[in-house]
Amino acid sequence: MDNIKPQTQPQAQNLTDGMHIVVDALKKNDIEVVYGVCGIPVTDLARHLQEEGIRYIAFRHEQSAGNAAAITGFLTKKPGICLTVSAPGFLNGLTALANATTNGFPMIQISGSSTRSIIDLQQGDYEELDQMNIAKPFVKASYRINKPEDIAIGLARAIRAAVSGRPGGVYLDLTTALLSSIMDKDEAAKTLFKVEDPSPKVIPSCESVDKALHLLSTAKNPLIILGKGAAYAQADDDIKEFIEKTGIPFLPMSMAKGLLPDDHPQSAAAARSYVLENADVVVLLGARLNWLLAHGKGKHWNPNVRFIQLDIDPQEIDSNRPIEAPVVGDIVSSMDLMVKGLSKYNIKPQPSWMEGINQDKQKNDAKMAIKLNNNTSPMNFFNALKAVKSVLEQNKDIYLVNGGANTLDDTRNVVNIYYPRHRLDCGTWGVMGIGMGFAIGAAITTGKPVVAIEGDSAFGFSGMEIETICRFKLPITVVVFNNGGIYNGWHTNLGGGPDPSPTTLMADARYDKLIEAFGGTPYNATTPEELTKALSDGISSGKPTLINCVIDPKDGTESGHISSLNPKTILKD
Ligand code: ADP
Ligand code: MG
Repeated sequence: MDNIKPQTQPQAQNLTDGMHIVVDALKKNDIEVVYGVCGIPVTDLARHLQEEGIRYIAFRHEQSAGNAAAITGFLTKKPGICLTVSAPGFLNGLTALANATTNGFPMIQISGSSTRSIIDLQQGDYEELDQMNIAKPFVKASYRINKPEDIAIGLARAIRAAVSGRPGGVYLDLTTALLSSIMDKDEAAKTLFKVEDPSPKVIPSCESVDKALHLLSTAKNPLIILGKGAAYAQADDDIKEFIEKTGIPFLPMSMAKGLLPDDHPQSAAAARSYVLENADVVVLLGARLNWLLAHGKGKHWNPNVRFIQLDIDPQEIDSNRPIEAPVVGDIVSSMDLMVKGLSKYNIKPQPSWMEGINQDKQKNDAKMAIKLNNNTSPMNFFNALKAVKSVLEQNKDIYLVNGGANTLDDTRNVVNIYYPRHRLDCGTWGVMGIGMGFAIGAAITTGKPVVAIEGDSAFGFSGMEIETICRFKLPITVVVFNNGGIYNGWHTNLGGGPDPSPTTLMADARYDKLIEAFGGTPYNATTPEELTKALSDGISSGKPTLINCVIDPKDGTESGHISSLNPKTILKD
């Protein structure tokens, strides 16, 4: 099989074809990695990518390949690329592409598609689907390239759409006819170019910056909410300087954890409710007032709070609450001006604000300590997480991927993050299934060890990618928090029949055996001590590792921290 040669080798020296031009255009734009699943009509395209030195990471399912591309976009500020086959492969990838758009991650899904003339007359082609139009509601832009001389321009449009302004997903349709079209090599070379300044600066007006700083100077209880837009922007030094010079407490959204270390004295993460209820001026720094922040209103918020919002997207402003001081710009440019403007204003939280926060933190930390130190057999979420926390404190530069319900919420609260963009999770939609895709994308992009803490249900969405992890020998340690179910594993069939309940999974499943099949390292951990050892061994080995972490099936709240979103009928008892 190794000797199979691509079938589309141009016959004559001075000719090239659509596939080669696509590869050349990607190379010209410094694309280093493509994630995908091969098949008709893109198999040879993937071979040519490899041939030309672009890494091609072959997945088992397109959704995971798409998730890997999306997280690559988040980590690098360059579009992550996912390659899919027509129709079902395209649709499988589309979920990840839509998720990238929702989260503001730059990603391009490139898909082969079947014969246009047959699709348009709905005459029933192999994998017939009008992919370009179907993608439109889920992406920032959706394009089709029909002519080989348009490939470079088509890719440029896709790159610009993905990374400029608020980043997001872009769909790029390559027809079978295009991929096999022939063109003169020299003419094709002339069409190639590198996109100039794909993500131009958006500099906010000085007036808007002054207004924001002035409003902040009137605050007694100011708060800065850091969102993943701030993490994405890579304005890490200016953000740190602004927060430390002003002394304003900060609250990191999940994927903004680590922008400043979680043990920073100004972190208000452990006093979340207290700061939302009491802050009088809130700076939204690359964070949206969506469901994750209760839309900025209701019982969680000080009703008189006034907002400053820094965002690249003018339409985000006033989306849920009136924003008194919008600063529309990219966060690098905006934070530069915000830091420079500081000397003109006297910005100082009142001393009682930080004191109140510290008292609340101490109270909550004490409550948390009781949960973490409560040893049970079998383990529960918290004593297992205490073990995870202790190991990760020794590996502060680890990339942490996290998915599930309780596994997600509790890990977020327990495990500190110390570096920017080191916590990768379900993001804005609160989705399940990003686990192995994000883990692989992070490992490939950074070359660093990755730990994925996954609920047993969450893991199932992308579990087959364990083979991908082993095939590429990636330094990923997966910990499956196995409590035998979605949320938990104790429910019964309300109809009394023999089928397991809708939320029941197999509590006695040995997920570790999965990785054994592919030559990785398995562990079964039933105590915090076993978990500590397995996790530290897994990380230090640098080899694919899977730990089945046995959790009490009775532990786990329905819907984790968002039970209120789950409508309830009256349950039979
Ligand atoms: P979180 O879930 O962490 O609150 P969101 O994804 O809801 O974060 O919000 C991120 C916000 O950051 C979005 O409104 C997006 O427009 C904005 N954003 C993304 N990148 C940048 C950037 N480079 N500069 C400014 N704003 C950005
Ligand atoms: Mg579970």
